[in-house]
Amino acid sequence: MSAEQKIQSLRKELREHNHNYYVLDNPSISDYEFDIKLKELQKLEEEHPEFYDANSPTLRVGGEVTKNFETVVHEHRMYSLDNSYSKEDLLDWETRIKKQVDGDVQYTCELKYDGASMSLTYENGKLTKAVTRGDGFQGDNVTTNIKTIRSVPLQLKGDYPEKFHIRGEIVLPFDGFNKMNEERLAAGEEPYRNPRNTASGSLKLQDSAEVAKRPLECLLYSLIGDNLEITTQFEGLEKARSMGFKVPTVAKLANSIDDVLDFVEHWDIARHDLPYETDGVVIKVNSLFQQEELGYTAKAPRWAMAYKFKAEQVSTRLNEITYQVGRTGAITPVANLEPVELAGTTVKRASLHNSDQIEKLDIRVGDAVFVEKGGEIIPKIIAVDLSKRPENSQPTIYINQCPECYTELIRIEGEAKHYCPNYNGCNPQVVGRIQHFISRKAMDIEGLGGETVALLVNEGLINNYADLYELTAEQVMPLERMAEKSAENLVSGVAASKQIPFERVLFALGIRYVGETVAKKLAKHFKSIDVIAKASFEELVAADEIGDRIAESVIDFFASEDNQVIIDRLKLNGIQLELSEEQMANQTNTLNGNIFVVSGVFHSVSRAELKKLIEDNGGKVSSSISSKTNYVVAGDKMGPSKRVKAEGLNIPIITENDFLKML
Ligand code: AMP
Ligand code: ZN
Repeated sequence: MSAEQKIQSLRKELREHNHNYYVLDNPSISDYEFDIKLKELQKLEEEHPEFYDANSPTLRVGGEVTKNFETVVHEHRMYSLDNSYSKEDLLDWETRIKKQVDGDVQYTCELKYDGASMSLTYENGKLTKAVTRGDGFQGDNVTTNIKTIRSVPLQLKGDYPEKFHIRGEIVLPFDGFNKMNEERLAAGEEPYRNPRNTASGSLKLQDSAEVAKRPLECLLYSLIGDNLEITTQFEGLEKARSMGFKVPTVAKLANSIDDVLDFVEHWDIARHDLPYETDGVVIKVNSLFQQEELGYTAKAPRWAMAYKFKAEQVSTRLNEITYQVGRTGAITPVANLEPVELAGTTVKRASLHNSDQIEKLDIRVGDAVFVEKGGEIIPKIIAVDLSKRPENSQPTIYINQCPECYTELIRIEGEAKHYCPNYNGCNPQVVGRIQHFISRKAMDIEGLGGETVALLVNEGLINNYADLYELTAEQVMPLERMAEKSAENLVSGVAASKQIPFERVLFALGIRYVGETVAKKLAKHFKSIDVIAKASFEELVAADEIGDRIAESVIDFFASEDNQVIIDRLKLNGIQLELSEEQMANQTNTLNGNIFVVSGVFHSVSRAELKKLIEDNGGKVSSSISSKTNYVVAGDKMGPSKRVKAEGLNIPIITENDFLKML
C-alpha cells in the first residue's frame, strides 16, 4: 500500500470511529486503539505534507487561532420561531394554516435545543463553512472552531447533494458543563452560569485548541438546498442522519394538535433525563410543499411554531440572607429559603450572586419570592411578589464586613463581587486555600482530607500550607478521631508530596486565575518560581495565554511578604519549585530571547507543536507583530494584514523549514 493509500484508509477508518462514538454513541474500538491509529496517521501526514487535507481527523484538536471572525451573509436567512404557550395558541395556528393550504396537515415534532444556532455548508461532501446565526441575515464565520467538534462530520458518507446547508444547534451537555465549572472553581474563578451561554461563548474563542477541549456537541435539524430529494421535514431528518449527522431520534410525526400535545406532555417530564438543556418543542408542518405555500412572516416561518416548556417556578419565602466566603475571599450572598419542591428536588437555597443582584431585585428578608430552575443549574430567584411584602419589611443592607473575620470588605473596580482582604487571617480563606493545596489535582496529599485541614487550622497547628511540612505525628495524634496510624499516614502523605512536579505546585498555591492550564504555561515558560516571582507585567503577558488579569494576580501574589516567606519555607522543605532536570533536558537556549509570531497553517508540525518548539528552545511566542518581533514564521494562508505589518517593520518572514533549521 502506498503512503497515500495508507493515509486515506486511516482517515476513512478514523472518521467511521468518530461517527460511531460521537454521533451514534456506540464506540466500536477502545480509546486506546483509536489514539494509536490517530498517532499513526499524524506521523504519516507529517512525513507526507503533500497529502494535506483540511478535513483530516487529525485536525480535530484545533490549533488555528482566529483574531477576528469574518462576517458572512447567510445564503438563506436564518429566521426566528414564533412562540406558543397553550393548546389554544396551537389550535389558532392550525386554523391559520388550514386557511392557506389544502388537504391534511401532518406535523413533525422535535425538541427545541437550547444552545447556539449554526448553519453549516457542505460542498462535495466536505464541510466548507460554519456560520453563527448572528442577526439572521449575517453571522460570524467560526469554521475553524466548529471543526473541532467531533460530532460535526468533516466528510460526509452515503449519498449527498453537491452543495447544501444544514442547520443545527451547538450544545454543551450538563456533564461537560459541570466539569468545566469544577475546574473554574478549582482555579478560584466564578463558575459559568449556564450551558447555553457557555456554548455560544465557546464558538467565539480565538484559539481553536481551547474549543477542542470543550465537550460541545452539534445536533442537526434542518436541511436547506436544491436537489435534496426529500419531500418532508421528517425525510430530511432521516436523510441528514444517513449522511453522518447527529440528528436526535426523538422526532415524531403527529396527525393532529392533540398528538402534538401528547408529545409536549411526554417531553415536558422526560427532558429532565436528557444530557442537555431543552426549552420547548418545535412543531413543523411536515410537507415541504405545504411549507412553501405558507411562507414566512417578517421574522419567522408560518409553517413552524415553538412551544415553550414552562420553566418550573414556585413561590416560597426568603427566610434569611447569609454570606459565604470563598477561598479567594470572594463573598457570595445566599438566599436561605423556606424549603420547597421544584423540578423533582427540594430547594432550600439559591445564589444571589452579588450585591447588584440584590439591589436589582430589591429583595428583602420575609419576602415571598419566585424561584425558577431554568437553564441554570443552581435555582435562581427571578422576582419578588410585592403584593405579599410584609408591612414592616426593611430594605436589605449589604454587609460591609466579612461575616467570618469582621474585616472591612473591598470591591475591586470592574468586579461584581466584594472581597475580604484579610488573606492570612480569615478562617475560610486559610482553610480553603490549604484544602485546595492538598486536593487531588494539586498536591494530592494522601492521608489528609478537607475536614482534617479545618481541624488542624482550628486547633492552631497550621495556618498556611508551608506549615504542613513541619507537622509531626506527635502533634497530630491528640486530635479528635486521630489514631497513631492515621497520624503517621498524614505525615508520610505530606512528605510524599515533595515529589509533585513544579507545574502542579504552582497550581496548588492557589493564585487567583491560575488554574491547571495556566500553571502549566507559567511553569514551562518561566521554569522556576524565582523567575516568575521577579517577572514584570510585560514579561508575564509575553508568555503564551497569559492575559492582563492573570499577570496582575501573579504580581499581587508575589508582592506579598507573607507569601514570600511561605514560598521560602516550601523551598527549604524540598518542594519542587522549578522544572526537573528531565523536563529541562528537552529544552535548549538556541532561540534565547527571540520573539516569534506564528501565522498560517503548517504541514510538518502543528501550530501548537511549533509554539512548543519555540518555547522549549528559549524563544517567546507573541500573538501580534510589533517592532519587538524578531521573526514571523509563516505557513500557508498567512493573514494578509500580518504580512503587510511584518514587511512594514522589516521583520524577517521565514517558512517552517527555515525555522526548523534554526534549531
Ligand atoms: P428563537 O431563538 O426563540 O427565535 O428560536 C429559534 C431558534 O430555536 C432557532 O434559531 C434554533 O437555534 C433553535 N432551535 C432549537 N431546536 C430547534 C429545532 N428542532 N428546530 C428549529 N429550531 C430549533
Ligand atoms: Zn474575612
